[in-house]
Amino acid sequence: MQEAMIKRAKELLADGIVDRVIGWKKGEFSYDHTPAVFTSAQELDESFVCDDFTSANLSKYLVKETIREGKILAFLKPCDTYSFNQLVKEHRIDRDKVYVIGIPGGPKLDIEKIRARGITGILNVRNENYTLKIETIYGVSEMPFYEAISVKCESCKSKKHVVYDELIGEDGEVLDSNRFDMVEKLENMTSQERYDFWRSELSKCIRCNACRTVCPACTCEKCVFENPDSGIENKAAADSFEENMFHIIRAFHVAGRCTDCGECSRVCPENIPLHLLNRKFIKDINSLYGTYQAGENTTDKAPLNEYKMDDCEASIVHERGAE
Ligand code: SF4
Ligand code: SF4
Ligand code: SF4
Repeated sequence: MQEAMIKRAKELLADGIVDRVIGWKKGEFSYDHTPAVFTSAQELDESFVCDDFTSANLSKYLVKETIREGKILAFLKPCDTYSFNQLVKEHRIDRDKVYVIGIPGGPKLDIEKIRARGITGILNVRNENYTLKIETIYGVSEMPFYEAISVKCESCKSKKHVVYDELIGEDGEVLDSNRFDMVEKLENMTSQERYDFWRSELSKCIRCNACRTVCPACTCEKCVFENPDSGIENKAAADSFEENMFHIIRAFHVAGRCTDCGECSRVCPENIPLHLLNRKFIKDINSLYGTYQAGENTTDKAPLNEYKMDDCEASIVHERGAE
């Protein structure tokens, strides 16, 4: 697929349809590719990559890219197209300045899952018929491909692209995902068990802000966490209250706009399962206001932005909580 992508990108550049391309650039190792903008066929040949480690969602980068002149080609996986649509809906991406090519999704790999096996000094990872051959400075290790897939791909919600100008490969379907299973388990805990679960996770937070920085729903010009008057500006949390508040405030800020892209959990250096917090909000919105998928299209009003006479009342939430 990588060859087909490079070939099509070169054609679109040569025809003047786009003047640059956003994709992934080869890293120093086979597993640390990064998002990058390419402006020539030569750059594409030298360093463009699309493989098992190109997980990063490119949509958020288009907020800044579409402020610039010209048109950019973006390669988007199915999950990324939801973020893209949501940002178009919020007027953060100028749709006319992007040529979207939909590409098949993962599952993509997470190098941290390989390291969690105690495999260190990793030089190269190869996928041979869904067995990973991991070359390290100590020799070659192996593990099954599916035991190293990223958390977001474990419960993929859709293989269908919700927006594209053209596709490379086949389009897929919306999946009957298991993404709310763990949320239900948390809901079935006692409040003390649930509190203990989240404290044990959130206490690991080093407040690096990677989750906020990567999140396509966090595109505020001036984030509340950078406002010195807020009392919660960028800094290591002083106590457990501040640790909790950072995450609760951020989850409320993205409620109804979070597409469940999984980027926050993917980048967290402490492996905090942030997606569970956001999925709890998604699940609650579904049950209180009707099933809603942020980013599915650019037209539907989000439940939290719309008032209906039959909207739930606070008392209903209270009754449900008391069950
Ligand atoms: S990415 Fe992880 S460690 Fe960093 S601020 Fe977010 S939750 Fe905390
Ligand atoms: S909160 Fe996490 S899952 Fe939701 S949009 Fe942001 S990065 Fe994606
Ligand atoms: S945390 Fe809130 S204020 Fe900060 S960027 Fe995200 S949505 Fe905006």
